[in-house]
Amino acid sequence: MMEGEKMKILDGGTGTLLVRMGFTEVDEDALFSAKLISTNPEAIKECHKKFYLAGSDVVVTATYQASVEGFQKHLKMTEQEAKNLMKIGVNLAKQARCEVQKENPDLQHLLVAGSVGPYGACLHDGSEYTGKYMNTVQINELKSWHKSRIDLLMEAGVDMLAVETFPSLKEALVVLDIMNEIPNCRGWVTFSCKDGKQTCGGDNFCDAIKQVMSSSCVIAAGVNCTSPEYINDLLDSIKTIPLTKPVIVKPNSGETWNVAQGWHGGVKSITEYSKEWINSGASWIGGCCRVYPEDISKLKSTLSNCFI
Ligand SMILES: [Zn+2]
Repeated sequence: MMEGEKMKILDGGTGTLLVRMGFTEVDEDALFSAKLISTNPEAIKECHKKFYLAGSDVVVTATYQASVEGFQKHLKMTEQEAKNLMKIGVNLAKQARCEVQKENPDLQHLLVAGSVGPYGACLHDGSEYTGKYMNTVQINELKSWHKSRIDLLMEAGVDMLAVETFPSLKEALVVLDIMNEIPNCRGWVTFSCKDGKQTCGGDNFCDAIKQVMSSSCVIAAGVNCTSPEYINDLLDSIKTIPLTKPVIVKPNSGETWNVAQGWHGGVKSITEYSKEWINSGASWIGGCCRVYPEDISKLKSTLSNCFI
């Protein structure tokens, strides 16, 4: 953490919280949590409220796997209806913030980040964690797919974008090109990583962070949806570069899933690791899949005791 820099607590995994609340269909759905923007918006708002009330300074909209084309295809909508639905996704987070602030007037600083997931997430074949599609997808196609969602998130009034779970630097740079063309568009970029050195798509993490941080629309960068056990090595790997912006750590629970065992093999909780991460330079901390509001609440109290 840089001197004088303010810590931010981010949210955890909205999709996995929805699953725990009983919406198990989310796991198998091509739209993931975005499906519920249409079928059960109240549940999404409830998730956002839980994270705000647990101590998150920022919540991320449920638009990770959303796209105008995806909504049209999977929910049999017109283009206009699909565009409206994307904006509803943002409004749910804004409404959650409003309701929380009504009860807690001291929480005026709360922010909404619009989730921008990788193109691979819409393919629904696990390729978001390998980045393999980057060898075949046309850059123009990729650009227009991302741009339509980003334009709508911005129109709906997000405070920033959360460009998250990106396997490859190349795709992140395409998104940053789009963002740099939109006035006042800013956001963070976080990569998913397969070990302590590389993104899931095989890029050098340090190089990827260096490049995205040099973009004027980027306000913070780091890692998400990655096992907590790799985070220290990833943070060590970027110590050699001048970090001009806050570093984000938003790992998953470290558990893995398979048909035979379900979720298994978790590691220490993010709270137990969090002090080391702060000491290694991270300042925006949260979680991803299977990191729940109670984990964020523990994280908040642990870090508040140490640093404030
Ligand atoms: Zn995740």
